[in-house]
Amino acid sequence: MTRILYKWGAKPFLDQLSGCREEIIGIMDYVEPEFIRDQAAEFRFLRTQALKNILQLFVNNEAITVVSGTVSSITIASDNMTTQVTVGDGRIFNADFVVCADGYDSALNDMGVTGSEREEYDTLGWPASHLAMTFALPTKTVRRDEALCNIFRSSKHWNVWAGPGYILHANISDESELVCVTITANYNREIFEGDQTWQLRPLEYWNIDLGLFEPRVKKLLELAGSVSSRIFVRKPMLDELVCTNSRVVLVGDAAHPILPGGNQHIGLDIEEAETLRCLFSRIEHRNQIPDFLVAYEDIRLPRTSHIVEYERGMHLMLQMPDGPQQEARDVTLKKVMAGDWDHMDEELFRAIFGEEFQQYSCDATEEVEDWWTKWGGSDLEECN
Ligand SMILES: Cc1cc2nc3c(=O)[nH]c(=O)nc-3n(C[C@H](O)[C@H](O)[C@H](O)COP(=O)(O)OP(=O)(O)OC[C@H]3O[C@@H](n4cnc5c(N)ncnc54)[C@H](O)[C@@H]3O)c2cc1C
Repeated sequence: MTRILYKWGAKPFLDQLSGCREEIIGIMDYVEPEFIRDQAAEFRFLRTQALKNILQLFVNNEAITVVSGTVSSITIASDNMTTQVTVGDGRIFNADFVVCADGYDSALNDMGVTGSEREEYDTLGWPASHLAMTFALPTKTVRRDEALCNIFRSSKHWNVWAGPGYILHANISDESELVCVTITANYNREIFEGDQTWQLRPLEYWNIDLGLFEPRVKKLLELAGSVSSRIFVRKPMLDELVCTNSRVVLVGDAAHPILPGGNQHIGLDIEEAETLRCLFSRIEHRNQIPDFLVAYEDIRLPRTSHIVEYERGMHLMLQMPDGPQQEARDVTLKKVMAGDWDHMDEELFRAIFGEEFQQYSCDATEEVEDWWTKWGGSDLEECN
């Protein structure tokens, strides 16, 4: 993602926002050894809003007209050539095609443009619902606590707690002013109306037994008191990203339902934008649109499906219940993260984190070029 953002011209903004290269993964010193350098771009902590501001600037620079409104329906005209998007106040917009980025709870299926065949994900151990909580605390408040003070010393640290049934990510942000925390926990209580929307709620609302958490996590939660939170209900894996008439395409969390706290969401979003950009920079005629969108699906679906599965596997590995398996996991992780890169067990590192780093090396621009070399010349040019 970082490399694509650089290509789009965002490097000066990113450098300004976060001048330092991060050095820690969990408790592992990250100093970019030779064998990783080719795989990964720099690590940075970035507020989502800061990234949105950068992208908004790009939109403004291109003088793109932006209209706001809640989409109530998307319909395809009888000629199958145009798409009509209706917003809440009745305005109708005609479009050659629609890029649908309405998030984890995507309503595409309720809008009469389904067509994408969904296949129930093999739910091997994947909980039916998760509670997600996020909050920010003033760093000085957190540091007043002796145990927490030792943890939140540097804005270069990414702290991860892996507990039975929960995972917590925390880092110092906003020029060291805030400690930002995201928690996901398995949830097996009844889900009420409104529970699936983000709201600031007191912890008591969720009936959380704080005793279940590691003392420092418990302390953080107690300091927060109220947290922005919601329930995420399990979503099936998508087996299509484009509806059957090939005029509506899914991107973002709508295309890859991953829980907050995963590492890949926004990276995937940026890759999807880059894929569409690279494909559509080659368009010569409107007739090509359906084929270009199918090309997008061909290129992206294997990757998004793989990442959703990988993220779920990683999530399950990190939040496994206490027991022999969890003890074995901790022994392995400690071994990998102990010491410095010069003395580490490279084979073990690759076994645990190799795939993670491999994923960062995906080059969306190159993927389109490869695809185009293989298929573009013959199939798509014939559409003219
Ligand atoms: C607490 C937290 C921590 C996270 N941490 C990370 C992280 O460290 N790294 C990472 O990569 N990702 C992280 N994520 C995930 C990341 O924020 C999401 O993946 C990303 O925001 C998804 O973008 P999106 O545009 O697909 O969906 P969203 O951000 O959900 O945006 C969807 C938008 O569509 C709008 N919408 C929905 N329906 C309609 C409609 N009918 N009409 C008009 N508008 C509509 C919604 O109002 C919303 O604004 C985190 C998320 C959370 C909540």
